[in-house]
Amino acid sequence: MRTTTVIIGAGHAGLAMSRCLAERSIDHVVLERGEVANSWRTERWDSLRLLTPNWQSRLPGFGYDGEDPDGFRDMPETIAFITRYAKAIRAPVETHTTVTSVKAMDEGYRVSTDRGSWETKAVVIASGACNTPSVPRVADLVPAGIDTLTPMEYRNPEQLAEGGVLIVGASATGSQIADEVHRSGRPVTLSVGEHVRVPRVYRGRDIEWWMDRCGVLDERYDEVDNLDRVRSLPSLQLAGSEDRHTVDLNSLTAIGVKLIGRLAGIQQGTAQLSGSLPNVCALADLKMNRLLDRIDEWVLENGLEGTVEPAHRFEPTRVEASPPLGVDLTSGEIRTIMWATGFRPDHSWIEVPVFDRKGRIRHDGGVVEAPGMYLMGIPFLRRRKSSLIDGAGDDARDLSAHLAGYLARNRTAAGAPREVGTGPGVSWR
Ligand SMILES: Cc1cc2nc3c(=O)[nH]c(=O)nc-3n(C[C@H](O)[C@H](O)[C@H](O)COP(=O)(O)OP(=O)(O)OC[C@H]3O[C@@H](n4cnc5c(N)ncnc54)[C@H](O)[C@@H]3O)c2cc1C
Repeated sequence: MRTTTVIIGAGHAGLAMSRCLAERSIDHVVLERGEVANSWRTERWDSLRLLTPNWQSRLPGFGYDGEDPDGFRDMPETIAFITRYAKAIRAPVETHTTVTSVKAMDEGYRVSTDRGSWETKAVVIASGACNTPSVPRVADLVPAGIDTLTPMEYRNPEQLAEGGVLIVGASATGSQIADEVHRSGRPVTLSVGEHVRVPRVYRGRDIEWWMDRCGVLDERYDEVDNLDRVRSLPSLQLAGSEDRHTVDLNSLTAIGVKLIGRLAGIQQGTAQLSGSLPNVCALADLKMNRLLDRIDEWVLENGLEGTVEPAHRFEPTRVEASPPLGVDLTSGEIRTIMWATGFRPDHSWIEVPVFDRKGRIRHDGGVVEAPGMYLMGIPFLRRRKSSLIDGAGDDARDLSAHLAGYLARNRTAAGAPREVGTGPGVSWR
């Protein structure tokens, strides 16, 4: 089979790109190993709600038209929303089609799947940033008798043994699951490394609203100082809920969750912990206050003082001055360990030399270092909001423009056009 562009993945990022290519009459197909919105269907826990408000799930040509713009979608609503989008834009999705390899050909790529292969001039990799849980090597040293699992395997507290749970990692996933598991009666100990603290609501508005209005989410990849660093920052410690309550380390200790430092190793059945807990918490507080300062400045600059609630600061994170440096994992107190230590993409099926020594795809704002290959949906791909549903639109618009230019140049370079079709010379059959 032949097409001009193959998009791999029918999450919101692949669909946004499909819509932008259709606008440019670029012939394409979207290959999806499961159903549309597969990650939300199969890889999330039961109680998860988006941490971005409804108004913020904007996709090209598709905004929120319900009655609760400030609410947070649960999983069935998120799946329904993305599925509705796929239908609305008539995305040419081939479901239950797993891409098994992408190889370079003389002109373009061969994309092999478990249902045949495609020859294409361009490829958009929109297969997700969170395909695989990142589990630290130390997991191999967990003593027998302790169950371990990752957030991808977690559905609800009832699947865990009765007894204590050690959750490693305190970003969005770890802090949300800590809250839920502790409330189920299983005492949670939370191992805290670097994290990004933000309040749910500030000066009467949602923090995402402020970050959207102040331009924080639009910051570009080519304008930040240390791109590698910002691309690897942990997710915001934030949760979506009906009552909009803040989930942070203070709210967790208030219900009885015990905070310990970053897990540094396991030796003879003892979890060894970094002593940096007070420092990482102080740093997270400092960075949160910097964000709040920026919001306050924006309020002043835009003459909004008096129209929103007054500026204030939140209580610093409460931590023991000398937290424990070890936890005995053989005492029976901890029955389960959850590795909430992040996720990474799985690009193992790409057989084109585009990877750096850490196994990451080399790209410039989503333009991969291989002609006609593009990447979507990765943290800070082109903007701070790139990994959010709300970020896919701008990235897809930029990258589809680049892709169209690439196809046009390619056609000119090749001399006589091989293409047929109605668009600006971009169909390849
Ligand atoms: C726990 C969690 C909570 C999040 N909460 C929010 C939130 O509140 N708000 C927000 O805006 N964002 C949130 N995100 C971030 C973001 O929306 C997701 O990372 C999102 O899934 C990325 O979108 P995507 O379309 O790039 O990838 P995905 O939605 O993961 O889509 C990729 C698709 O590619 C398919 N695929 C993968 N490999 C292959 C293959 N080899 N062949 C064929 N198909 C393949 C997958 O099945 C999948 O359907 C959250 C992420 C996680 C993990």
